[in-house]
Amino acid sequence: AMAAPAAAYMLQDQDAHAAQLERTFIAIKPDGVQRGLIADIVSRFERKGFKLVAIKLVVPSKDFAQKHYHDLKERPFFNGLCDFLSSGPVLAMVWEGEGVIKYGRKLIGATDPQKSEPGTIRGDLAVVVGRNIIHGSDGPETAQDEIALWFEPSELVSYTSNAEKWVYG
Ligand code: ADP
Repeated sequence: AMAAPAAAYMLQDQDAHAAQLERTFIAIKPDGVQRGLIADIVSRFERKGFKLVAIKLVVPSKDFAQKHYHDLKERPFFNGLCDFLSSGPVLAMVWEGEGVIKYGRKLIGATDPQKSEPGTIRGDLAVVVGRNIIHGSDGPETAQDEIALWFEPSELVSYTSNAEKWVYG
């Protein structure tokens, strides 16, 4: 899919801070769901001050997993990775907030949990790279493509959270 300009996924909102807001795609992979880590992971994004704008539990087909990970199709682990992603329920989400794409990756930690800092999701909750429990978009274009792949526009819920004025001032 063609990448649209950055402004396309920013909110059209009157609030001064809203112009800074952006959205990212976050997914708890089948290992995180099976291990009962949904609440812990969602809680970390929620407590930070990011806003949940879409969420659903889905079992992706292998074909869908291959689309999601198309950038990695030349990698030796691609087939196993796609088998794994399609092996059970995935919790797909869109989170919104200032800097959420980059900071979401910080909350998640390094790809290899052995290299993830304590305090990060993978650092605290995972041990090996092939079972690192969570996915997060790695940049604005990827975020936009992944949100469009996983969600219909009507599934994205725009609303004002009462916490926003306390989170952003
Ligand atoms: P990230 O998920 O941190 O953005 P990548 O895009 O590089 O990392 O890789 C996507 C996913 O592929 C990783 O989260 C991990 O599940 C899997 N993966 C990456 N490297 C390996 C590897 N060497 N062996 C097995 N699986 C891997």
